[in-house]
Amino acid sequence: MNAIAIDGFSSTGKSSVAKILAQRLGYLYVDTGAMYRAVALHALRNGWVGPDGSSVNAAAAEALRSGAGTLDIRWRWEASGQQHTLLNGEDVEAQIRTMEISQIVSKVSAVPEVRRALVAQQQKLGTDSPGVVMDGRDIGTVVFPEAKLKIFMTARPDVRAARRFAEMEAKGSTDGLSVQDIAANLAQRDAEDQARLDSPLLKAQDALVLDNSDLTFDQAVEQAYTWARERGFATAQPH
Ligand code: C5P
Repeated sequence: MNAIAIDGFSSTGKSSVAKILAQRLGYLYVDTGAMYRAVALHALRNGWVGPDGSSVNAAAAEALRSGAGTLDIRWRWEASGQQHTLLNGEDVEAQIRTMEISQIVSKVSAVPEVRRALVAQQQKLGTDSPGVVMDGRDIGTVVFPEAKLKIFMTARPDVRAARRFAEMEAKGSTDGLSVQDIAANLAQRDAEDQARLDSPLLKAQDALVLDNSDLTFDQAVEQAYTWARERGFATAQPH
């Protein structure tokens, strides 16, 4: 198993760095946050969780616990590098990035059965591919505890909120939200992700910390790539 684990707080640039690192190494890239977001969307659509993320009732809680394992989550890639998350064949990329989903995803991802189902899928994606770069919250601690390179990404909260806001503005998807609204959501998700009982967000003991507050994107990628080469990760041969 040839895996690079990238974990860290919300909006630290994990996904962007992981995606380019995977491209440079010729490895598969897996955005596990998108998987939890897709389950949250499915749960919301089915009325299993309310808009505040709470379970609607006992039957809904049970449906969420058993439903996660039955979902088919995969990706389609544009030549430009744009990712599209497919949930049971439907392109849900735009829907899973809304604030509505950002507000409930940490409650859905705290459900142990949801985690178990997704972790099993993530491990299979890793073992089925010649090399994988996976980003999330528990990749180095739970999904691939044996990974030879674990990176824990951080950045100052104001930098993260400003970057996320600029990203949403570029997509025209701020929906009247201010940079303070974004900062509040990031802080809330971080707190929930760190506090949950099942596989909380925490730095693996052997993870290398990459604080990119004052780095350009290219510098952050270069650092990750240098560590990968130092740890013996070689470029996968195309086949
Ligand atoms: O990475 P992203 O911010 O899209 O993740 C959305 C949410 O999914 C996180 O706030 C967290 O609650 C959950 N998540 C998780 N474990 C992962 C990846 C994401 O619990 N490995």
